[in-house]
Amino acid sequence: MSIETRIELNKPLKGLSTFGIGGNARYFISVQTIAEMQELRLFLNREGMPYWVVGKGSNSLFSDRGFDGMIVLNKIDFFEFDEGVLHVGAGYSFSLLGAQMARKKWSGLEFASGIPGSVGGAIYMNAGANGKETCDALTHVGVIDKSGELVEIADLAFSYRTSPFQNSEDIIVSGRFQLIKYEQARKDQLEIVEYRMRTQPYGEKSAGCIFRNPDSIGAGALIEECGLKGKRIGGAEVSTLHGNFIINRGEAKTSDVLELAKYIKETIREKTGHELEMEIRPIPYNIGGR
Ligand SMILES: Cc1cc2nc3c(=O)[nH]c(=O)nc-3n(C[C@H](O)[C@H](O)[C@H](O)COP(=O)(O)OP(=O)(O)OC[C@H]3O[C@@H](n4cnc5c(N)ncnc54)[C@H](O)[C@@H]3O)c2cc1C
Repeated sequence: MSIETRIELNKPLKGLSTFGIGGNARYFISVQTIAEMQELRLFLNREGMPYWVVGKGSNSLFSDRGFDGMIVLNKIDFFEFDEGVLHVGAGYSFSLLGAQMARKKWSGLEFASGIPGSVGGAIYMNAGANGKETCDALTHVGVIDKSGELVEIADLAFSYRTSPFQNSEDIIVSGRFQLIKYEQARKDQLEIVEYRMRTQPYGEKSAGCIFRNPDSIGAGALIEECGLKGKRIGGAEVSTLHGNFIINRGEAKTSDVLELAKYIKETIREKTGHELEMEIRPIPYNIGGR
């Protein structure tokens, strides 16, 4: 079936984000292979259609109005592994990957276990935890570039929760990682998951940490220090377990989350002088043609 015949209209976005918030997308497509992503990119270029790629939607906040263009759900999830060299589709579950590799006593992605994103989202965000980042074990990234070519890139410059893809139009389709044999990998990974479950509001609707940590201190600690845990605007509430998580209490709107984030930012600035920066990615309704 050609890409064009698989496009869905008026797709509800709530189920595509762990926040469980958002209106409808004018167009929607789920992509399973690199070849399909290439075909789609050429179609989008031809039509001049605005689009937004998502993985597991665990760092994304859709607009209450939805999205005036095509939401592309990346489900490319092939898996190849040979003696420490891992080549995996960008739609593969990052959390599952962390656990699978640790179980086989391969080290480098233990921290991924419990991060509810896709490999592509983890590369785009340079996701990290426990002092490790996605870029540490990453050697190459496969992308469909602006012109529709499949290219494999090495030697990329990453930094804290930042990747070069945040300023490019590349669509990430795969990642290659170099892992190392380590007897304790499974033990470490289980400890990481146990710590997460104890300290983060798992099972609640959120998109992880709302703010990046400022240089010297955790954003969660600042929010707690300023007495903002439990603060609520509409259906959005600062988690009482971890100050840097905003929870959708069931009926939150995007506007509630953004208002609460603004209130937190202003309070932290006034009381501590720290300037908080958003980590989550709000997706505007209208991004214009590309
Ligand atoms: C309970 C919870 C705990 C979390 N813990 C952590 C943590 O410990 N550390 C951490 O770093 N994050 C954490 N997060 C945030 C989130 O899981 C990560 O940022 C994750 O890497 C996002 O992946 P995703 O597939 O869900 O991305 P999405 O939300 O789908 O997308 C995020 C951004 O990446 C872009 N993107 C996604 N896929 C592609 C692609 N294939 N090509 C181009 N662009 C793409 C999107 O356009 C968007 O701008 C947590 C979130 C939750 C809900």
